[in-house]
Amino acid sequence: MTARRVMGIETEYGVSAPGDPAANAMMMSSQVVNAYAAPLGSRAGRARWDYEDEAPLRDARGWEISRDGAHPSQLTDAPEDPGLANVILTNGARLYVDHAHPEYSSPEVTNARDAVLWDKAGERVMLEAARRIATNPGLGTVNLYKNNTDNKGASYGTHENYLMRRETPFADVVRYLTPFFVTRQVICGAGRVGTNQDGSGVGFQVSQRADFFEVEVGLETTLKRPIINTRDEPHASADRYRRLHVIIGDANLCEVAGFLKMGTTALVLELIEEGGFTTDLSVEQPVNALHEVSHDPSLKHTLRLRDGRDVTALQLQWMYLEQVNAFLADRYGTDVDDGTAEVVRRWESVLTRLEQDPMLLAREIDWVAKLRLLEGFRDREQLSWDAARLQLIDLQWADVRPEKGLYHRLEQRGQVERLLTDEEISAAVHEPPTDTRAYFRGRCLSRYGEHVAAASWDSVIFDIPGRGALQRVPTLDPWRGTKEHVETLLNNSPTAADLVDAITAR
Ligand code: ATP
Ligand code: MG
Ligand code: MG
Repeated sequence: MTARRVMGIETEYGVSAPGDPAANAMMMSSQVVNAYAAPLGSRAGRARWDYEDEAPLRDARGWEISRDGAHPSQLTDAPEDPGLANVILTNGARLYVDHAHPEYSSPEVTNARDAVLWDKAGERVMLEAARRIATNPGLGTVNLYKNNTDNKGASYGTHENYLMRRETPFADVVRYLTPFFVTRQVICGAGRVGTNQDGSGVGFQVSQRADFFEVEVGLETTLKRPIINTRDEPHASADRYRRLHVIIGDANLCEVAGFLKMGTTALVLELIEEGGFTTDLSVEQPVNALHEVSHDPSLKHTLRLRDGRDVTALQLQWMYLEQVNAFLADRYGTDVDDGTAEVVRRWESVLTRLEQDPMLLAREIDWVAKLRLLEGFRDREQLSWDAARLQLIDLQWADVRPEKGLYHRLEQRGQVERLLTDEEISAAVHEPPTDTRAYFRGRCLSRYGEHVAAASWDSVIFDIPGRGALQRVPTLDPWRGTKEHVETLLNNSPTAADLVDAITAR
């Protein structure tokens, strides 16, 4: 069995200008994207993201795209329209400004480990952008944080995206994912100093995002946030697929937690698609339950299930794991692929130790690692939870700079468990995954960047000298355009014109 599923992680980063709380977030975010894109020159810096729904990008001849401003050639020249800060990278990712935050949307991958790898590559992209701004005498300094709230009432998202079969009833997705999302934070929460949306409540909670969720199901992503988001833009054939847009997760720095977030969720989705659940695990008042689980780092709080039982978040996670194990045993026997076996093994190990003493997970889980650090600090400095410095430590935890970020300092000291090597992450900044259409997109950028006018998840648009109209190569199927499919074609196509001719001749 191979439980591969197309997935990707979008991460919006927090921005601030040291010493200038009133600095314009939109301007800073545009600077970040442009600082990274500009030196790419005729490669990725030139190709801009294509919005299918923006009329001015097309004209009667087909794909006529205005490229004014697509050259972010001067760092100081942050575009007036931040929508212009929107580029494609050679690893197949998208880098842009969303809701006044710089956002890195990973290329499509097919498993949890790769999802973490290409998300980590995004941290490097942000770090590099911040360094370029800091070393440019014409610009100020922009600090970037991989977190999800400014503790002043704003939250910015980390979205997971999973390809699902269209025929799966959405009611099943809601039924089985809601209790799972209410409780998975005990594994993949990033930890937060303060409660309430504005951080005014005193104490430490498990998740960054929980307090910002107000409804059970809905289309919104920035107001009245829902546990289950109904956005339905598949970036693939809408007859066959849905892209499940998950907005409830925290941004992870710990690789193990990020791996489990994606891996366990993908397994739950497989059971939903395959009708693998035999028990309804619905909880009463899921929005309240979500907040309560987050507000109890002792993990003792109990939730009421619809069937009347009272269980802790950990017990509910065990019930999910049992259902997954029963399904895998029934369906695949011992023939479970290594990636899936690794998810299940780590899931069980983490739950077992969280039950004994959450602090045993300080090397693997963000909220525990952060809490341990904070408790050490509180002890030394004799601080209670309302001390303002603790919120500053929380912020510094997520700083992308290795010399400043407290997570990164722990990592350098060998105090967190790694799944990836630094070399792999460095390579993933430039190299696309090989097993999705991101390979084709990324390679087109690195080989023919000068002649790529634009791209989106489901197309690459070429601007070939001497040809009047732009030429669009659709990439509607996320599973096609892999290295296996297109490497020979690319190698046999020295120029973009050769490539487009070869594809249209097929
Ligand atoms: P936002 O929420 O910021 O408004 P968005 O959710 O529409 O944006 P993008 O920021 O463009 O989307 O990111 C899309 C993410 O989904 C990427 O990480 C990409 O790898 C992934 N993705 C693209 N197509 C699919 C698909 N068909 N199935 C699953 N994931 C996909
Ligand atoms: Mg996005
Ligand atoms: Mg999104």
